[in-house]
Amino acid sequence: MDNDDADMNTALMLDGNAVAGQLQQIFGREMTTAMARCAGCGNDAEMGALMAFTRAPGVVLRCPACQAAIARIVETPSAIYLEARGAAYLRMQAPGH
Ligand SMILES: [Zn+2]
Repeated sequence: MDNDDADMNTALMLDGNAVAGQLQQIFGREMTTAMARCAGCGNDAEMGALMAFTRAPGVVLRCPACQAAIARIVETPSAIYLEARGAAYLRMQAPGH
């Protein structure tokens, strides 16, 4: 995608905490402390520490180490799309731990 970096405007950059409410709505739990491993560089970062771009169509969460897009969230009137092909995995704490 040639225009993949179109949202790389640091003036629009937030961190993952800015979308904590949206993530909580999708996952039904607090997600800012969940660990996301970047599929591109292997960096581990808390969701709350990812770079968040909220002016792209939907939300884009990027790796703070290599700027690769880890996850995208797009909401339509009838559905929520979560694309996370840039994440090797998300790691959430098991209940009670
Ligand atoms: Zn990375």
